[in-house]
Amino acid sequence: MTRLEESGHPTDRFTAASRTVRAHADGGVCPACPADGPCPQQTWAVRQLADHPGGRLLLHQLGIPSDESVSIQEGPLR
Ligand SMILES: [Zn+2]
Repeated sequence: MTRLEESGHPTDRFTAASRTVRAHADGGVCPACPADGPCPQQTWAVRQLADHPGGRLLLHQLGIPSDESVSIQEGPLR
């Protein structure tokens, strides 16, 4: 599985994470989306955002639950 920048500054991770959840919120896929099954990148992104006050706000705006034990979009293709 491919992750966007694991290294780098928190701001970069925040940017990458917001980009990912926005891509998913549009009803689309992110560049890291697997062909089928849940998207690990989205799970990662939600975790990153849930750790961040601004990120939690973004998740709220997009209607994504920011709970720690998040289990979002469990592979509708299966
Ligand atoms: Zn994805």
